[in-house]
Amino acid sequence: MLDKQQISLDLEKYSEVFYHFWEFCNIEETKAIPTAAVSFDKYGKCLRLSINPDFWASQTYTQQLFILCHEMLHVYYKHGAKAKSLIKAGRSDLMQIANIAMDLCVNRVLTTSFGFNRAEIDPENKYCWIDTVFPNNPEDPEKYFEYYYNKIKDNAKVITILTSGKGKGNQLVDSHDGLGELEEDEVDKIIEEISKKVFPQNAKDFVEKTKNGEEDKKPSNSKKAGTQAGGNSLKVRADYKPRAKWESVVRQWCKKALSDSFNENWTRPNRRTMFLDMGGLLLPSENDFAGGKDLEKIKVAFFMDVSGSTYHLAERFFVAASTVPKHRFDVDLYQFDTVVRKLEDGNVIGGGGTSYRVISDHINKMEKEGVLYDSIWILTDSFGDGVSPKYPDRWHWFLTPGSQIAQLPENCNYYNLSEFE
Ligand SMILES: [Zn+2]
Repeated sequence: MLDKQQISLDLEKYSEVFYHFWEFCNIEETKAIPTAAVSFDKYGKCLRLSINPDFWASQTYTQQLFILCHEMLHVYYKHGAKAKSLIKAGRSDLMQIANIAMDLCVNRVLTTSFGFNRAEIDPENKYCWIDTVFPNNPEDPEKYFEYYYNKIKDNAKVITILTSGKGKGNQLVDSHDGLGELEEDEVDKIIEEISKKVFPQNAKDFVEKTKNGEEDKKPSNSKKAGTQAGGNSLKVRADYKPRAKWESVVRQWCKKALSDSFNENWTRPNRRTMFLDMGGLLLPSENDFAGGKDLEKIKVAFFMDVSGSTYHLAERFFVAASTVPKHRFDVDLYQFDTVVRKLEDGNVIGGGGTSYRVISDHINKMEKEGVLYDSIWILTDSFGDGVSPKYPDRWHWFLTPGSQIAQLPENCNYYNLSEFE
Protein backbone atom coordinates (compact mmCIF):
# COMPACT_ATOMS: atom_id res chain seq x y z
CA MET A 1 0.00 0.00 0.00
CA LEU A 2 2.84 2.34 0.83
CA ASP A 3 6.16 2.58 -0.89
CA LYS A 4 8.16 3.55 2.20
CA GLN A 5 11.35 4.41 0.37
CA GLN A 6 9.65 6.54 -2.23
CA ILE A 7 7.83 8.34 0.55
CA SER A 8 11.09 8.99 2.47
CA LEU A 9 12.57 10.57 -0.58
CA ASP A 10 9.55 12.77 -1.14
CA LEU A 11 9.06 13.77 2.50
CA GLU A 12 12.61 15.05 2.55
CA LYS A 13 11.64 17.60 -0.06
CA TYR A 14 9.30 19.19 2.51
CA SER A 15 11.75 18.90 5.39
CA GLU A 16 14.54 16.61 6.48
CA VAL A 17 12.74 16.45 9.86
CA PHE A 18 9.70 14.75 8.29
CA TYR A 19 12.07 12.27 6.68
CA HIS A 20 13.50 11.35 10.10
CA PHE A 21 10.07 11.27 11.76
CA TRP A 22 9.06 8.80 9.09
CA GLU A 23 11.84 6.46 10.24
CA PHE A 24 10.07 6.29 13.61
CA CYS A 25 6.73 5.31 12.10
CA ASN A 26 5.21 1.86 11.86
CA ILE A 27 2.32 1.56 9.46
CA GLU A 28 -0.80 -0.29 10.42
CA GLU A 29 -3.44 -0.97 7.84
CA THR A 30 -6.88 -0.99 9.45
CA LYS A 31 -10.53 -0.44 8.67
CA ALA A 32 -11.26 0.32 12.33
CA ILE A 33 -10.77 4.02 11.65
CA PRO A 34 -12.32 5.90 8.71
CA THR A 35 -9.22 7.85 7.67
CA ALA A 36 -5.82 7.93 9.40
CA ALA A 37 -4.53 8.31 12.94
CA VAL A 38 -1.33 8.47 14.91
CA SER A 39 -0.73 6.75 18.22
CA PHE A 40 2.16 5.20 20.08
CA ASP A 41 3.43 1.69 19.51
CA LYS A 42 4.53 0.66 23.00
CA TYR A 43 6.19 -2.54 21.86
CA GLY A 44 8.10 -1.04 18.97
CA LYS A 45 8.80 2.17 20.93
CA CYS A 46 7.83 4.12 17.87
CA LEU A 47 4.89 5.92 16.35
CA ARG A 48 2.05 3.94 14.91
CA LEU A 49 0.39 5.39 11.84
CA SER A 50 -2.93 3.72 11.27
CA ILE A 51 -4.31 4.05 7.80
CA ASN A 52 -7.60 2.95 6.33
CA PRO A 53 -6.63 1.46 2.93
CA ASP A 54 -9.86 2.56 1.21
CA PHE A 55 -9.42 6.12 2.39
CA TRP A 56 -5.74 5.99 1.40
CA ALA A 57 -6.51 4.82 -2.11
CA SER A 58 -8.93 7.71 -2.55
CA GLN A 59 -6.18 10.27 -1.91
CA THR A 60 -3.72 11.67 -4.44
CA TYR A 61 -0.04 11.12 -3.69
CA THR A 62 0.41 14.74 -2.56
CA GLN A 63 -2.64 14.41 -0.31
CA GLN A 64 -1.10 11.26 1.15
CA LEU A 65 2.15 13.10 1.89
CA PHE A 66 0.14 15.91 3.46
CA ILE A 67 -1.64 13.43 5.73
CA LEU A 68 1.67 11.92 6.83
CA CYS A 69 3.10 15.36 7.63
CA HIS A 70 -0.17 16.24 9.36
CA GLU A 71 0.21 13.25 11.70
CA MET A 72 3.86 14.08 12.37
CA LEU A 73 3.04 17.65 13.30
CA HIS A 74 0.38 16.46 15.77
CA VAL A 75 3.19 14.52 17.40
CA TYR A 76 5.68 17.36 17.20
CA TYR A 77 3.23 19.89 18.66
CA LYS A 78 2.49 17.41 21.44
CA HIS A 79 -1.20 17.46 20.78
CA GLY A 80 -1.36 14.15 22.63
CA ALA A 81 -0.62 15.86 25.94
CA LYS A 82 -3.32 18.41 25.27
CA ALA A 83 -5.90 15.76 24.46
CA LYS A 84 -4.94 13.83 27.56
CA SER A 85 -5.25 16.79 29.90
CA LEU A 86 -8.80 17.47 28.66
CA ILE A 87 -9.76 13.84 29.16
CA LYS A 88 -8.17 13.85 32.59
CA ALA A 89 -10.10 16.98 33.55
CA GLY A 90 -13.29 15.19 32.58
CA ARG A 91 -13.91 17.62 29.73
CA SER A 92 -14.34 15.19 26.90
CA ASP A 93 -17.22 17.49 25.87
CA LEU A 94 -14.54 19.95 24.82
CA MET A 95 -12.62 17.42 22.76
CA GLN A 96 -14.29 18.41 19.52
CA ILE A 97 -13.18 21.98 20.03
CA ALA A 98 -9.68 20.78 20.82
CA ASN A 99 -9.70 18.57 17.74
CA ILE A 100 -10.59 21.45 15.48
CA ALA A 101 -8.00 23.71 17.11
CA MET A 102 -5.32 21.03 16.58
CA ASP A 103 -6.15 20.47 12.93
CA LEU A 104 -6.29 24.18 12.31
CA CYS A 105 -2.74 24.60 13.71
CA VAL A 106 -1.34 21.77 11.65
CA ASN A 107 -3.13 22.49 8.37
CA ARG A 108 -2.23 26.12 8.54
CA VAL A 109 1.47 25.56 9.17
CA LEU A 110 1.73 22.92 6.43
CA THR A 111 0.19 25.18 3.83
CA THR A 112 1.75 28.48 4.86
CA SER A 113 5.27 27.25 5.67
CA PHE A 114 5.93 23.90 4.04
CA GLY A 115 4.65 24.51 0.56
CA PHE A 116 1.55 22.32 0.48
CA ASN A 117 -1.06 23.86 -1.76
CA ARG A 118 -4.41 24.15 -0.02
CA ALA A 119 -6.45 23.90 -3.23
CA GLU A 120 -4.67 20.68 -4.09
CA ILE A 121 -4.92 19.23 -0.58
CA ASP A 122 -8.52 20.17 0.05
CA PRO A 123 -10.36 20.93 -3.21
CA GLU A 124 -13.73 20.49 -1.49
CA ASN A 125 -12.79 22.92 1.25
CA LYS A 126 -13.86 20.50 3.92
CA TYR A 127 -10.95 20.70 6.35
CA CYS A 128 -10.27 23.19 9.14
CA TRP A 129 -8.76 26.46 7.96
CA ILE A 130 -8.57 29.86 9.57
CA ASP A 131 -11.25 31.26 7.23
CA THR A 132 -13.60 28.32 7.70
CA VAL A 133 -13.28 28.13 11.49
CA PHE A 134 -13.18 31.89 11.98
CA PRO A 135 -14.92 33.31 8.91
CA ASN A 136 -14.99 36.77 10.51
CA ASN A 137 -11.30 36.92 11.18
CA PRO A 138 -9.49 35.06 8.42
CA GLU A 139 -6.29 37.10 8.75
CA ASP A 140 -5.61 36.24 12.38
CA PRO A 141 -1.83 35.90 12.72
CA GLU A 142 -1.90 33.64 15.80
CA LYS A 143 -1.32 30.01 15.05
CA TYR A 144 -1.11 28.08 18.28
CA PHE A 145 -3.44 25.55 19.81
CA GLU A 146 -4.46 27.27 23.06
CA TYR A 147 -5.29 30.45 21.20
CA TYR A 148 -7.60 28.71 18.74
CA TYR A 149 -9.04 26.52 21.44
CA ASN A 150 -10.01 29.42 23.70
CA LYS A 151 -11.28 31.44 20.80
CA ILE A 152 -13.56 28.66 19.61
CA LYS A 153 -14.72 27.96 23.15
CA ASP A 154 -15.53 31.62 23.76
CA ASN A 155 -17.62 31.77 20.64
CA ALA A 156 -20.75 29.75 21.25
CA LYS A 157 -22.08 30.46 17.79
CA VAL A 158 -19.01 29.00 16.18
CA ILE A 159 -19.27 25.91 18.36
CA THR A 160 -22.79 25.25 17.11
CA ILE A 161 -21.68 25.52 13.52
CA LEU A 162 -18.71 23.29 14.12
CA THR A 163 -20.51 20.52 15.89
CA SER A 164 -23.49 20.50 13.60
CA GLY A 165 -21.63 20.88 10.36
CA LYS A 166 -20.68 17.24 9.93
CA GLY A 167 -20.03 16.24 6.41
CA LYS A 168 -19.52 19.79 5.22
CA GLY A 169 -16.80 22.12 6.39
CA ASN A 170 -14.39 21.96 9.29
CA GLN A 171 -13.87 18.24 9.19
CA LEU A 172 -10.80 16.64 10.67
CA VAL A 173 -8.16 15.31 8.34
CA ASP A 174 -7.75 12.31 10.62
CA SER A 175 -8.99 10.61 13.74
CA HIS A 176 -7.50 12.03 16.94
CA ASP A 177 -8.59 9.15 19.14
CA GLY A 178 -5.09 7.71 19.52
CA LEU A 179 -3.41 11.04 20.31
CA GLY A 180 -3.96 10.56 24.05
CA GLU A 181 -1.70 7.50 23.91
CA LEU A 182 1.28 9.61 22.96
CA GLU A 183 3.30 9.82 26.16
CA GLU A 184 5.13 13.11 26.34
CA ASP A 185 8.41 11.58 27.44
CA GLU A 186 8.30 9.06 24.60
CA VAL A 187 7.67 11.86 22.13
CA ASP A 188 10.56 13.79 23.68
CA LYS A 189 12.84 10.81 23.17
CA ILE A 190 11.89 10.57 19.50
CA ILE A 191 12.43 14.29 18.97
CA GLU A 192 15.76 14.08 20.78
CA GLU A 193 16.83 11.27 18.47
CA ILE A 194 15.75 13.27 15.44
CA SER A 195 17.65 16.32 16.72
CA LYS A 196 20.84 14.29 16.59
CA LYS A 197 20.34 13.43 12.95
CA VAL A 198 19.15 16.63 11.34
CA PHE A 199 21.56 18.91 9.60
CA PRO A 200 21.63 22.14 11.72
CA GLN A 201 20.43 24.41 8.93
CA ASN A 202 17.48 22.10 8.27
CA ALA A 203 16.68 21.91 11.99
CA LYS A 204 16.73 25.69 12.25
CA ASP A 205 14.53 25.96 9.21
CA PHE A 206 12.03 23.49 10.65
CA VAL A 207 11.91 25.26 14.03
CA GLU A 208 11.35 28.56 12.25
CA LYS A 209 8.59 27.16 10.05
CA THR A 210 6.74 25.45 12.88
CA LYS A 211 6.83 28.52 15.13
CA ASN A 212 3.26 29.35 15.83
CA GLY A 213 3.35 32.40 18.07
CA GLU A 214 3.08 30.35 21.24
CA GLU A 215 6.75 30.87 22.10
CA ASP A 216 6.25 34.64 22.37
CA LYS A 217 3.61 34.18 25.03
CA LYS A 218 5.86 32.39 27.47
CA PRO A 219 7.60 34.49 30.11
CA SER A 220 11.27 34.57 29.19
CA ASN A 221 12.33 33.62 32.73
CA SER A 222 10.00 30.66 32.86
CA LYS A 223 11.83 27.68 34.24
CA LYS A 224 9.75 25.45 32.08
CA ALA A 225 10.43 27.32 28.88
CA GLY A 226 11.31 24.93 26.16
CA THR A 227 10.09 21.91 28.06
CA GLN A 228 6.43 22.83 28.16
CA ALA A 229 4.03 20.75 26.17
CA GLY A 230 3.47 22.28 22.81
CA GLY A 231 6.79 24.07 22.76
CA ASN A 232 9.00 23.42 19.79
CA SER A 233 11.50 21.05 21.25
CA LEU A 234 13.65 20.20 18.26
CA LYS A 235 17.15 21.29 19.12
CA VAL A 236 19.49 22.88 16.68
CA ARG A 237 22.71 21.26 17.72
CA ALA A 238 25.62 23.66 17.73
CA ASP A 239 27.85 20.65 18.36
CA TYR A 240 26.55 18.85 15.32
CA LYS A 241 29.29 16.87 13.65
CA PRO A 242 28.44 15.12 10.46
CA ARG A 243 29.00 11.52 11.42
CA ALA A 244 29.01 10.64 7.79
CA LYS A 245 32.25 10.09 5.99
CA TRP A 246 33.21 12.87 3.62
CA GLU A 247 32.45 10.67 0.65
CA SER A 248 28.78 11.07 1.57
CA VAL A 249 28.88 14.66 0.30
CA VAL A 250 29.39 13.27 -3.19
CA ARG A 251 26.50 10.88 -2.70
CA GLN A 252 24.27 13.64 -1.37
CA TRP A 253 25.01 15.67 -4.45
CA CYS A 254 24.18 12.71 -6.70
CA LYS A 255 20.94 12.21 -4.85
CA LYS A 256 20.00 15.86 -5.34
CA ALA A 257 21.01 15.80 -9.01
CA LEU A 258 18.95 12.66 -9.57
CA SER A 259 15.94 13.99 -7.74
CA ASP A 260 16.12 17.21 -9.80
CA SER A 261 16.35 15.33 -13.08
CA PHE A 262 13.71 12.95 -11.77
CA ASN A 263 11.27 15.80 -11.21
CA GLU A 264 11.94 17.20 -14.64
CA ASN A 265 11.20 13.85 -16.22
CA TRP A 266 8.52 12.70 -13.88
CA THR A 267 5.26 12.65 -15.71
CA ARG A 268 3.31 10.23 -13.57
CA PRO A 269 3.96 11.08 -9.91
CA ASN A 270 1.92 8.15 -8.65
CA ARG A 271 4.00 5.60 -10.44
CA ARG A 272 5.40 2.95 -8.17
CA THR A 273 9.11 2.60 -8.43
CA MET A 274 11.80 0.31 -7.25
CA PHE A 275 14.64 1.87 -5.37
CA LEU A 276 18.10 0.71 -4.61
CA ASP A 277 19.37 1.55 -1.18
CA MET A 278 23.03 2.44 -1.47
CA GLY A 279 24.19 2.89 2.09
CA GLY A 280 21.30 5.04 3.16
CA LEU A 281 21.14 6.80 -0.14
CA LEU A 282 18.11 6.11 -2.24
CA LEU A 283 18.69 6.05 -5.90
CA PRO A 284 16.24 5.22 -8.61
CA SER A 285 17.17 1.92 -10.13
CA GLU A 286 18.13 1.40 -13.72
CA ASN A 287 14.71 -0.04 -14.41
CA ASP A 288 13.03 3.28 -13.74
CA PHE A 289 14.46 4.58 -16.92
CA ALA A 290 14.10 1.52 -19.07
CA GLY A 291 11.58 2.15 -21.78
CA GLY A 292 11.25 5.76 -20.69
CA LYS A 293 12.60 8.67 -22.55
CA ASP A 294 16.33 8.52 -23.02
CA LEU A 295 17.85 10.59 -20.31
CA GLU A 296 21.12 12.28 -20.93
CA LYS A 297 23.66 11.22 -18.36
CA ILE A 298 24.82 13.70 -15.77
CA LYS A 299 28.52 14.48 -16.27
CA VAL A 300 30.85 14.55 -13.32
CA ALA A 301 34.62 15.04 -13.12
CA PHE A 302 36.96 14.31 -10.24
CA PHE A 303 40.34 15.99 -9.96
CA MET A 304 42.86 14.68 -7.46
CA ASP A 305 45.69 16.94 -6.38
CA VAL A 306 48.79 14.73 -6.47
CA SER A 307 51.29 17.37 -5.41
CA GLY A 308 52.26 15.84 -2.09
CA SER A 309 50.23 16.62 1.01
CA THR A 310 47.03 15.15 -0.40
CA TYR A 311 48.51 12.15 -2.16
CA HIS A 312 47.59 9.69 0.60
CA LEU A 313 43.90 10.58 0.17
CA ALA A 314 43.82 9.60 -3.48
CA GLU A 315 42.46 6.14 -2.95
CA ARG A 316 39.62 7.32 -0.78
CA PHE A 317 38.82 10.14 -3.18
CA PHE A 318 38.42 7.73 -6.05
CA VAL A 319 36.39 5.36 -3.89
CA ALA A 320 34.01 8.29 -3.36
CA ALA A 321 33.95 8.77 -7.13
CA SER A 322 33.14 5.11 -7.60
CA THR A 323 29.95 5.44 -5.53
CA VAL A 324 28.48 7.63 -8.26
CA PRO A 325 25.97 5.39 -10.06
CA LYS A 326 27.23 4.78 -13.57
CA HIS A 327 23.91 4.22 -15.24
CA ARG A 328 22.91 7.84 -14.69
CA PHE A 329 26.27 9.57 -14.42
CA ASP A 330 29.29 9.77 -16.68
CA VAL A 331 32.30 9.97 -14.41
CA ASP A 332 35.76 11.12 -15.52
CA LEU A 333 38.69 10.74 -13.18
CA TYR A 334 41.72 12.99 -13.39
CA GLN A 335 44.84 13.72 -11.45
CA PHE A 336 46.50 17.11 -11.58
CA ASP A 337 49.58 18.99 -10.46
CA THR A 338 50.67 21.51 -13.06
CA VAL A 339 49.10 19.36 -15.76
CA VAL A 340 45.87 17.40 -15.93
CA ARG A 341 46.05 13.68 -16.65
CA LYS A 342 43.10 11.45 -17.24
CA LEU A 343 43.16 8.28 -15.14
CA GLU A 344 42.24 5.31 -17.24
CA ASP A 345 43.70 2.57 -15.07
CA GLY A 346 43.36 4.22 -11.65
CA ASN A 347 47.12 4.58 -11.15
CA VAL A 348 47.96 7.91 -9.58
CA ILE A 349 51.40 9.33 -10.20
CA GLY A 350 52.75 11.75 -7.61
CA GLY A 351 53.80 15.12 -8.99
CA GLY A 352 54.97 18.53 -7.95
CA GLY A 353 53.41 22.00 -7.94
CA THR A 354 49.70 22.75 -7.93
CA SER A 355 47.73 24.61 -10.55
CA TYR A 356 43.99 25.10 -10.52
CA ARG A 357 44.08 26.97 -13.76
CA VAL A 358 44.93 23.75 -15.59
CA ILE A 359 41.61 22.34 -14.33
CA SER A 360 39.54 25.23 -15.63
CA ASP A 361 41.49 25.16 -18.92
CA HIS A 362 40.72 21.47 -19.26
CA ILE A 363 37.03 21.97 -18.46
CA ASN A 364 36.74 24.77 -20.99
CA LYS A 365 38.44 22.60 -23.59
CA MET A 366 36.00 19.78 -22.89
CA GLU A 367 33.06 22.15 -23.17
CA LYS A 368 34.26 23.17 -26.62
CA GLU A 369 34.36 19.48 -27.52
CA GLY A 370 30.76 19.11 -26.35
CA VAL A 371 31.29 17.72 -22.83
CA LEU A 372 29.82 20.07 -20.24
CA TYR A 373 30.45 18.87 -16.69
CA ASP A 374 27.52 19.28 -14.32
CA SER A 375 29.76 18.88 -11.34
CA ILE A 376 33.49 19.13 -10.68
CA TRP A 377 35.07 17.66 -7.56
CA ILE A 378 38.54 18.58 -6.44
CA LEU A 379 40.56 17.31 -3.51
CA THR A 380 43.41 19.64 -2.62
CA ASP A 381 45.24 21.58 0.08
CA SER A 382 44.23 24.99 -1.39
CA PHE A 383 47.79 25.97 -2.20
CA GLY A 384 47.70 26.47 -5.93
CA ASP A 385 47.46 29.35 -8.38
CA GLY A 386 44.37 31.55 -8.79
CA VAL A 387 41.47 30.38 -10.91
CA SER A 388 38.15 31.88 -12.09
CA PRO A 389 35.77 29.05 -12.94
CA LYS A 390 33.12 29.79 -15.56
CA TYR A 391 30.45 28.04 -13.44
CA PRO A 392 31.77 28.31 -9.87
CA ASP A 393 28.65 26.77 -8.30
CA ARG A 394 29.49 23.50 -10.05
CA TRP A 395 32.87 23.31 -8.36
CA HIS A 396 33.12 21.31 -5.16
CA TRP A 397 36.38 21.53 -3.23
CA PHE A 398 37.43 19.07 -0.57
CA LEU A 399 40.05 20.83 1.49
CA THR A 400 42.62 19.14 3.69
CA PRO A 401 43.32 20.52 7.20
CA GLY A 402 45.28 23.77 7.13
CA SER A 403 43.77 24.91 3.83
CA GLN A 404 43.15 28.60 3.26
CA ILE A 405 39.86 29.21 1.61
CA ALA A 406 40.49 32.95 1.14
CA GLN A 407 42.63 32.42 -1.95
CA LEU A 408 40.08 30.20 -3.68
CA PRO A 409 37.31 31.50 -5.97
CA GLU A 410 33.98 32.72 -4.60
CA ASN A 411 30.67 30.91 -5.01
CA CYS A 412 32.16 27.44 -5.15
CA ASN A 413 31.25 24.73 -2.65
CA TYR A 414 33.83 24.02 0.03
CA TYR A 415 34.10 21.10 2.42
CA ASN A 416 36.72 20.87 5.13
CA LEU A 417 37.77 17.29 5.49
CA SER A 418 38.55 17.93 9.16
CA GLU A 419 34.83 18.38 9.81
CA PHE A 420 34.12 14.90 8.56
CA GLU A 421 34.98 11.52 9.88
ZN1 LIG B 1 -5.55 15.97 12.72
